[in-house]
Amino acid sequence: MTQQAEEQVNDGFVVDTEDCEERETAHCERGNARPITVVGNPVLHRECKDVTDFGPELAKLVDDMFASQRAAEGVGLAANQIGVDLKVFVYDCHDDDGVRHVGTVCNPVLVEQPAESRVLAEGNEGCLSVPGAYAELARTEYAEVTGQDAEGNPIKVRGTGYFARCLQHETDHLYGRLYIDRLSKRDRKDALKQMEERTPRYEVVPND
Ligand SMILES: [Zn+2]
Repeated sequence: MTQQAEEQVNDGFVVDTEDCEERETAHCERGNARPITVVGNPVLHRECKDVTDFGPELAKLVDDMFASQRAAEGVGLAANQIGVDLKVFVYDCHDDDGVRHVGTVCNPVLVEQPAESRVLAEGNEGCLSVPGAYAELARTEYAEVTGQDAEGNPIKVRGTGYFARCLQHETDHLYGRLYIDRLSKRDRKDALKQMEERTPRYEVVPND
């Protein structure tokens, strides 16, 4: 199927469900896993810079992000989680129908949905940058993100269920917001305590 035909049947949304294994593996083989930044590192707590250069350096960053995501067994990873101040995230995430989505979004913007279609779902959320902690957090059941792919082409990504949660979580990262910032004071404290009590299963960047 040609790119154009795919886009027609997909309402202009990017097709991120095909050749997932091959695409993810190719990125990982070219990339190198880097250690993950954790809560308290300033790069996680401010808005990242827009991507303006869609050249080979960005392609290498995306490869490293996929390799880092795989090493840490994540389903999504934002550039600032490996210490890079750029608005890029990658994902390798299943939705609630068991469909796998693999892709890259630069300069993501969450598309505001009409209030009547904004259905919230409670769900368990965790973050590689808050290792070992989990908390219940309400997110919308459906999410749409606009942005660009790694070549600079405009794209739209949409997801439901757990994948919608992932799109919201990763976009938040690039604006300096962690999921624990959306929790009540008590739940946030509890998440940080869980993190203190557990040793990360992957390499992290120590905070000063
Ligand atoms: Zn995260």
